[in-house]
Amino acid sequence: MLDIKWIRAHADEVQQAADDKRISLRVSELLAVDDERKRIAQETDRLREARNAASREIGRLMKDGDTAAADAIRRETAAMLEELDSLQPTLAEIEHQWSQLMLLVPNVVSPATPRGASDADNVMVRQVGEPPAFDFAPRSHVELGELHGLIDLARGVKTAGTRQYYLRGAGVLLHRAVQQLALDVLLERGFTPLDVPLAVREEAMVNTGFFPLGADQTYRIADEDRLLVGTSEVPLISYFSGEIVDVAEPIRLAAASLCFRSEVGSAGRDVHGLYRVHQFAKVEQVVLCEADPEVSERILHEITSHAEHILKLLELPYQVMAVCTGDMSQKTYQQFDIETWMPSRDAYGETHSSSNVHDFQARRSNIRYRGADGKLHYCHTLNNTAVASPRILIPLLENHQEADGSIRIPAALQPYMGGLKRLVLP
Ligand code: AMP
Repeated sequence: MLDIKWIRAHADEVQQAADDKRISLRVSELLAVDDERKRIAQETDRLREARNAASREIGRLMKDGDTAAADAIRRETAAMLEELDSLQPTLAEIEHQWSQLMLLVPNVVSPATPRGASDADNVMVRQVGEPPAFDFAPRSHVELGELHGLIDLARGVKTAGTRQYYLRGAGVLLHRAVQQLALDVLLERGFTPLDVPLAVREEAMVNTGFFPLGADQTYRIADEDRLLVGTSEVPLISYFSGEIVDVAEPIRLAAASLCFRSEVGSAGRDVHGLYRVHQFAKVEQVVLCEADPEVSERILHEITSHAEHILKLLELPYQVMAVCTGDMSQKTYQQFDIETWMPSRDAYGETHSSSNVHDFQARRSNIRYRGADGKLHYCHTLNNTAVASPRILIPLLENHQEADGSIRIPAALQPYMGGLKRLVLP
C-alpha cells in the first residue's frame, strides 16, 4: 500500500502501474473518494465539537437551575444531532470504500523494469551454462520418474485429484536433499532459519499483499479465519508485523515450507508432470532492510545470486530474466526470475523468482525502524526462492540423465543422498 499523499502527488505514475499490471483501479476515483472522506470527516468533527460545546453549556445552565435556557439549546441543537447521527454511518461507509480502493493500489515499478504485457516480454539478462546436447533421445522427468519409481502421478490423482503426486524412494531423498542444500547455503550466508505457520489469518495475507488480489489462488480452511499460504514469505514477513525492528544490519530470514496454490486461471496449462502442482515445497529467503533504494537493490542482486549459486551447485543451465510490468504482481517494484533449462520442454522454465517490493508490505504490515534521523520509517522487504521442489526435479532429472537411463547426482547433492552418485534403473 502506498501513502495517499504520495499517490495524490504521483497519480499518473500510479495509474500507469495499475494499467501495466492490469489492475482495475481508477486513481481518479480513489482521489475523489479520498476528498469526500476528508470532507465528511471534517464535517463530522465540526458537528461533534458543536455537540460537545452544547452539552457543556446545557450542563452549566442546569447547574444554575436555568432549565428554560437549557431546553432552548436542546431544541436548537436537535437538528444538528440528527445530522451527526446520519453522517456517522456515511463516514464509516466511505472509509470502508476508501480502504477497499487503497488495497488495490499497485506499487510503482523501478525505472529498470521492462514494459510489457506478459512473460513473453521479459528480458534475458544473462545465461549461465549450456543446455546438454544428448546423443540419444532424452526422456522426460515423467518417464524417468516412472522408470526409476521416483514419481507416481496416477496415484496422486487417485488420492488427491488433479495436479497432485506422490514422490517415492530416491525421489523423496532428492526432494529433501535440494531443500537441505539450499537451506545450508542460506545458513552459511547469515540467514536465520524459521519454521513457520502455514495456515494464517486473512490479515497476514492482506498485509503481505496477497489479498484481496490473488485471493482466488488461496485455499481457505472452511469456517475459519485461516488460509493455507502459497509461500512462506507470508509468515516470514508477518513475523514482524506491528513491530519496530532493527535493520542496522539487514534481517535475513529463511524457511523451508510447504506451499499450497489453487492455480485457478491455469486451467489446461502445464498439466503434465510436476511443473504446476497444488502442493510443493519451497526454501524461501526474505530480507528486511532500511528504506534506501540503493541498499534494497543491492540486496535484490544478492538474493538472486544465492539462487544462482544453488543452481550452479546443482550443475543446471539457467537464464536470469528481468521481469516486465505485465508479469509482475501488485506489490512488486523490481523482479528477476530465473529459468532453468528443461529438456522435455525444449525451453527454459521458471524455477525462481526474486522481488524487491520496497516499503509496500512494510506499510501494510506496519513494520518500521528508527532511522539515523531519529524518525520511524517503513522498511524495505525482499523475497526470493532458494529452491522450489518438485519443480526443480524436472531439470535435475532431465539434464543429468544418461543414455542407459541412469541419472547422475551432482557432487554437491551427494552428501545429502547418503553418498549416492547416480540413480540406476532397477
Ligand atoms: P512465486 O512464489 O510464485 O514467485 O514462485 C516461486 C517458485 O515456486 C516458482 O519459480 C516455481 O519454482 C515454484 N512454484 C510456483 N508455483 C508452483 C506450482 N503451482 N507448482 C510447482 N511449483 C511452483
